[in-house]
Amino acid sequence: MKRAWSKKNLWERTPWWVKLSVGSGLSLLPAEWLLGRRFRRNCEFVEAAQWWPAERCREHQVNRLRETLTLAYDKTGFYRRTFDAVGFRPGDFRSLDSLLHLPTVDKEVVIENLVQMCTRSVEGKDVDYVSTGGTSGTPLYFYLNASRSYIEYAYLTKSWARAGYELGMPMAVFRGRMVQPDRNGLYHEYDPVLRHHYYSNFHLSDKNMARYLEHITTIGPCFLHVYPSSVAALARFCRCAGIRPPGNIRGVIAESEIVYPEQRQMIEEVFGCRCFSCYGHTEKLILAAECEHSPDYHVWPTYGYFELLDERDRPVATPGQRGEIVGTGFINTVMPLIRYRTGDWATYVGGRCASCGREHIVIRDIRGHRTQEVLIAADGSEISWTALNMHNDTFLRVRQFQFMQERPGHAILRVVPVNGFGEQDAARIRRNLGRKLDGRLAFVIELVDTIATSARGKAIYVDQRIPQARLNHTPFGPL
Ligand SMILES: [Zn+2]
Repeated sequence: MKRAWSKKNLWERTPWWVKLSVGSGLSLLPAEWLLGRRFRRNCEFVEAAQWWPAERCREHQVNRLRETLTLAYDKTGFYRRTFDAVGFRPGDFRSLDSLLHLPTVDKEVVIENLVQMCTRSVEGKDVDYVSTGGTSGTPLYFYLNASRSYIEYAYLTKSWARAGYELGMPMAVFRGRMVQPDRNGLYHEYDPVLRHHYYSNFHLSDKNMARYLEHITTIGPCFLHVYPSSVAALARFCRCAGIRPPGNIRGVIAESEIVYPEQRQMIEEVFGCRCFSCYGHTEKLILAAECEHSPDYHVWPTYGYFELLDERDRPVATPGQRGEIVGTGFINTVMPLIRYRTGDWATYVGGRCASCGREHIVIRDIRGHRTQEVLIAADGSEISWTALNMHNDTFLRVRQFQFMQERPGHAILRVVPVNGFGEQDAARIRRNLGRKLDGRLAFVIELVDTIATSARGKAIYVDQRIPQARLNHTPFGPL
């Protein structure tokens, strides 16, 4: 992966031991000053813009879309061809509805037209080449402005503020970073400028989890920044081992995977604080953050233009109706993605939030990446993994589980047992799941020591090996 020398990237690339020596003095300065004037300006804008009335948001969106469409038309062969084919003139763009005349694009279109979609040479220092990975299917490669971090981080920190986070607060991070053991053998690294404590979520044995939790108690009032699956593992461990979780955790920010309601409930019960989430993409299309008052997602209107389309590509604006999330990002001017189909689906809730008063589009129940969620029944129909995520005692004395499927109608349920797991537990799983599956899928239980995650440490709930005719885009950033 090629990376440019932006200030935040540069800091991230610096070895931890250099940071420790130079960082001890720097950590006395507020993090927002260290991240620069540009970051502070973005924070001010984001803070003000989140309270704009809907009319002002729309006006802003029309202007930003016209800029994006004009840039794409003037500078790229792909969009010039596409717009000409439907007689679209970006200069005449005046209302959001007229965007519907343009075709949508998806991952396959980007793979085929990568260079043709760029507005300038990608050799420059200010351009990053990034990918969204995947355990199956083709990874998507594309180009992004190296300066995006300032903008993105401003939106993220303003989103997290809804859960009580303040810039500069320590974060305990379990998010797929390769962390080396320190001199005590603890998988821990510290970034004194951002005050981030990185722990390894590739090493979540009982022994390591006990040590991580103990270490977290020493870092002061903090937030956990985690994958939902990682914090769920920590919560399950606390519960099974009867360990009291650190009392200094003020909130949990769980992102980059779907947060299942059962997980959220358990995390909030065990840690005694809010579990908060944002939805976004590596492609920088759309960013949505939960409300202070509910787990419903509010779509940031100034980050990108959001559309929800039904199966026949008609806009969804009826509360309760589901649609596919289609995004036009405002941040990426190197390779504009216009009406990009994310492959993620959500339920439309409304055009404003009555609890907080923000005039943002509100959505809930975001779901994506079918291959990670779906089992195929004997008759070829699909069974959603979430439907099998039991609320009751089915998975008592189970640390982790995962389905592996190679042919329709049959699956292996891999189970990582905790101490005391016995035939009784296996029988209960067979009975409860069997009732739900109702003969559609036969499965055998296989006890294993560990369950592999993706290369970036994210959970894979269904290791689906039946070839798919068309693999969807990877939601929530790289796997
Ligand atoms: Zn709200």
